[in-house]
Amino acid sequence: MSDCLFCKIAEKKIHAKIVYEDDHVLAFRDINPVAPTHILLIPRTHMENILGLGDDTAKHMLAAMRQIVADEKIEKGFRLVSNTGEHGGQTVYHLHWHILSGRHMGWPPG
Ligand code: 5GP
Ligand code: ZN
Repeated sequence: MSDCLFCKIAEKKIHAKIVYEDDHVLAFRDINPVAPTHILLIPRTHMENILGLGDDTAKHMLAAMRQIVADEKIEKGFRLVSNTGEHGGQTVYHLHWHILSGRHMGWPPG
């Protein structure tokens, strides 16, 4: 999608601090972190949200998530969030998983 911010990051047309990448997914630091560790994990292929995520890409995202958790040394705990749609608080409409860590997370979310 030519006008999608995260597609542009995946194509490296827009700079991001990449922490993990393979043929299927890319992970980079959030530009406006809300926790000491705040990483966004995206599929390279454009899809609006998690409802469009197929089993094969999901497998690659899960494997990448496990790798990132090990690399970032956040096994002590983290939160995985995928804001979806208007009520979910989604602002960028290319599927992304937030990996948040480095502090205690409150519950319920705002
Ligand atoms: P959402 O609100 O859709 O769940 O999450 C979008 C996230 O993308 C936000 O946390 C926001 O800070 C992050 N973000 C927006 N624009 C950019 C950007 O240009 N670069 C990076 N690295 N993160 C961005
Ligand atoms: Zn996109």
